[in-house]
Order: sequence, then structure tokens, then C-alpha cells
Amino acid sequence: MTGLSDSFQRPINYLRISVTDRCNLRCIYCVSSGGVRLISHGEILTYEEIYTVAQAAAELGINKIRLTGGEPLIRSGLPKLIQMLAQIDAIDDISLTTNGTLLSRYAAELKSAGLRRVNVSLDTLKQDKFEFITRLGNNVGEVLEGIEVAKSVGLNPVKLNMVVMAGINDDELLDFAAKTIAEEWHVRFIEHMPFADEDTPALRFVSVSEMRRRLERLGELEPCLPSVGNGPAKYFRLPHAKGTIGFITPISEHFCFHCNRLRLTADGKLRPCLLADDEIDLKQPLRSGISSAGLKQLIEQAVANKPLRHHLAEGYVPKERPMTQVGG
Ligand code: SAM
Repeated sequence: MTGLSDSFQRPINYLRISVTDRCNLRCIYCVSSGGVRLISHGEILTYEEIYTVAQAAAELGINKIRLTGGEPLIRSGLPKLIQMLAQIDAIDDISLTTNGTLLSRYAAELKSAGLRRVNVSLDTLKQDKFEFITRLGNNVGEVLEGIEVAKSVGLNPVKLNMVVMAGINDDELLDFAAKTIAEEWHVRFIEHMPFADEDTPALRFVSVSEMRRRLERLGELEPCLPSVGNGPAKYFRLPHAKGTIGFITPISEHFCFHCNRLRLTADGKLRPCLLADDEIDLKQPLRSGISSAGLKQLIEQAVANKPLRHHLAEGYVPKERPMTQVGG
């Protein structure tokens, strides 16, 4: 196996798989107020089809898989998919991104199926704001419980992703950072990315440099290494903190030059870049009995199509799919 690399010599070893476009929340930064057109069930890849793609990708050099959505935990039988993926020899890291609402119910089963670690989206610690951001009446306590259960069953690390939005949750930056001092919380602050059909995106942006300026009130941020993974976040620790703070800067300092990812949408499109609409269809070829060699050619084509970088700074915003369909 020689490994995959794109036309800019970036090694590509990471596949993010969206297992459903459906979600039990309607977060304001992810789903537009008008809602989204749902993909019909027959158009969603089966677990066997996802496995076939993952197997071919692994034979080409993919060794890390992240399951995302929509909300991956609302698709039934997810532990079964994890078990199938865990049997692929070359795959040595399977992780999950979830909103955490169903995590306490499934964490133990996910862990024994072969899941290693989990990222939980948590944008606020306050119930009223949770309802505002998610547009639904779920309980933020369910997410906090999910985080604790995930830790207790050995999913490690549990990373918490907060999309920081001006005037919405940026007043909680210090509360989240304080949690990293007292407890082993690994919080990542993410710059808000604009998406085409989203309401008032520009007003929400808070740069990481502004976040850091505010956080330094709690003490100096000492650079540190991530506990696992080599993703785009830069990690720091406050003095004597048990946990860490990561910053993800898709806008103010894009990390495209280190991008190692491909994305598979729930309806079987392979997407070379989160922030560009270009996609290659795998579903139809899979359903027409494509050979493993043919599938690998399509994966290589997607890798060859990876753009050098996104073009948000020039005003290009992906239009074809909302975030909830791509999986973040
Ligand atoms: N439902 C799962 C969840 O909530 O984590 C997985 C899907 S969600 C689309 C995956 C990630 O995308 C989340 O961590 C979310 O915070 C991030 N995300 C969605 N829209 C975003 C935006 N406009 N800017 C930055 N991050 C965004």
C-alpha cells in the first residue's frame, strides 16, 4: 500500500462518513429556519454500501474514519456499522461526532462495537440558550450526562465542540474555559463558518484571536499537544488546568494546506472539500455493481479533485448542501 495523496502532495488518510442527513436538533448555524429537504430513505447508503466504500478507501490508504450526520445516533443499528468498520484491517481509528442527546443511552454499546473516541457538540451550558440554539426543547442536561457516560465507558478523549457566535453564546467562553481548569474537559472553540442558506451568518463571526484575548483573563494559555489525533485544532492549557482548550480557525487562519480528508455524504456522494460543492457519485455505481477496482478509481478521482483551499474569504459559500447534510 503506497497511500493516497492529492495533486498538492497532501497525504489523504481520513474519511468522514455522514450516516444520515436527519437530526433531532435544528441548530441555527447548521440548519436554516426554513428547514432542509430530507433525502428519501432509499437514497441513503446502506451499511453494507458504506462498508464497501470504507474497505476500498482503506485499501488505498485511509486509516481513520469519523461517523457524523445529521445526528449519527438517530440512525438505527449504528453499533453494527462500527463493528463492520472495525473489522477492516487498515482502519485503526473510528470516532464519532454527535450532539450528545442520545449518548448516555448508546455509549457502552458503541464502545464495545469498536468506537474509540467521541466529539460532542455543546454550544452552551444554559438551558434557555440550548433551546434557542437548537430550536428545540431538548435538555442540555441530557448532553452533559452523555459526556459523563461516554467518559465512564472509556471513550477517550471526549472532545467538546463549541461554535462560538457573537451575541449568542460568546458570553460563555470563560465558563467553558473554567470547566477545563476544574475538570478534564477538552473544549474546542470553533469559528463560525457561513453556509448558503443560513440566517444572518456574517453577524455571528468571532475570530479566534478575539476569543484568545478574552480567555487570557483566566491566565496564560500554554501551548500543548493534543491527547489524540492531528486535526486542525491548536491546543493550549490554562495554568494548572486538568483539561485543554483547542481553537479551530477555518476562517481567520485556514488549515487547508494540511487537509487530509474526504467526506462521504449519506446519499453516497464523495466530497473532496467541506467548503466546495464538487462531489463524485458513488451510490449509482455501487448499485450498478461496480468492481472494487472501479470504486477505487472513483475515490482516487475525488482525491485528485481536492482544491488547494476553500474560498470563503473571497465570498464563495457552498450552496448545494447545508452543513447538516455534509456532517461538518
Ligand atoms: N449532529 C452531530 C453534531 O451535532 O455534532 C454531527 C453533525 S454536525 C453538522 C458536525 C459539526 O459541524 C458540529 O461539531 C458542529 O458544531 C459543526 N458545524 C455545523 N455548522 C457549522 C458552522 N456553520 N460553523 C462551524 N461549525 C459548524
